[in-house]
Amino acid sequence: MARYTGSVCRLCRREGAKLFLKGERCYSAKCSFTHRVTPPGQHGMSRKKNSEYSLQLREKQKTKRVYGILEKQFKMYYEKADKMRGMTGENMLVLIERRLDNVVYRLGLGISRAQARQIVNHGLICVNGKNVNIPSYLVKAGDVVTVKENKRDKAVFAEVKGGRSVSLPKWLTFENEALKGTVVALPQRDDVDFTIADHLIVELYSK
Ligand code: SF4
Repeated sequence: MARYTGSVCRLCRREGAKLFLKGERCYSAKCSFTHRVTPPGQHGMSRKKNSEYSLQLREKQKTKRVYGILEKQFKMYYEKADKMRGMTGENMLVLIERRLDNVVYRLGLGISRAQARQIVNHGLICVNGKNVNIPSYLVKAGDVVTVKENKRDKAVFAEVKGGRSVSLPKWLTFENEALKGTVVALPQRDDVDFTIADHLIVELYSK
């Protein structure tokens, strides 16, 4: 599966915002965005444009980067959302929030979405008792997300079992000791933990 392999801190500088792509480091003084906020590249500053198109493009790029999704799949969410009832931008974000790698991150099982994706890819996660290793799997209300029985002692979950707390969105519940999360409802637009102007993305794609 294709994925971005370059420097992720560079992406924060490119978008001019902290995207929290590196877990704990993002909350520490080591975050490179706190030292250097200029866009990357020799001509980073001079490349800055504020045209309507560039604002729309940057919003789309930022959203893709926050969730770690590449263009083809991201556009697929837009197309799917466009066929659904209601607001396309909201539907699109709700679909993306339902991805299993995002759910694993929001439950606190991974310290970043990238780590959560790796946890799913490595087959450590079960949904309703069945092993699911597809990060883009969409959870439904009522689904139970657990760590595979024989993988619970892995170091990556030690802090979680020890009670590491995360701010859970209202559509999820979590039992630390059992490493068990429940999707109590489908997410809503305001459950997205990042400021995203989804209307700009819709405007860009609908041109
Ligand atoms: Fe972005 Fe995190 Fe790197 Fe800071 S440490 S620049 S928030 S990825």
